[in-house]
Parts: sequence; C-alpha cells; structure tokens
Amino acid sequence: MKKYLLTFDNEACKGCGVCIHFCPVKILKTDPVRLNKAGYALVQVTDINKCIGCAFCAMMCPDSVIKVESNDE
Ligand code: SF4
Ligand code: SF4
Repeated sequence: MKKYLLTFDNEACKGCGVCIHFCPVKILKTDPVRLNKAGYALVQVTDINKCIGCAFCAMMCPDSVIKVESNDE
C-alpha cells in the first residue's frame, strides 16, 4: 500500500493556514502547543494514513515549508 510522508521546515512556517485550507482530506491542523521561534503554531498531520499524496499542501504553501514523499519513489 502506498504511504506518504510529510516533512515540515518548521522554522519557515508563518502559520498562514493555507495548507490546512487546501488539504482535501482535512488532516492538517495547527498545534497550539508547538511553536516555532517566530511564535507561529506548527502544522501537524492528524492521520497520515488518510493522506492521498496530492501535494496540494506543498504546492499552496507560500514558503515551501512542506515536502511530500511516497514510499515507492
Ligand atoms: S498531500 Fe494532499 S492529502 Fe496529504 S496532507 Fe497534503 S494536501 Fe492533504
Ligand atoms: S501554508 Fe506553509 S506557511 Fe502556511 S501554515 Fe501551512 S506550512 Fe505554514
């Protein structure tokens, strides 16, 4: 089964929420407890097993914070 891995360049995140908005399966959310050095709440994946690998999150992020990889590449 194809699985996906998301990695975040957390210090580059500005907390805009665009990735959260565009994820079609709604598995991204901000974690109010984990902040980067600039004070923005970091984005986390709630259920990676639901990720369809569309990479909309990565494409829409204005700061190229997110990298989407699959296990068969
Ligand atoms: S790759 Fe697609 S499904 Fe997976 S977290 Fe990003 S927007 Fe959501
Ligand atoms: S779109 Fe990019 S900068 Fe905005 S919250 Fe998501 S990861 Fe952070």
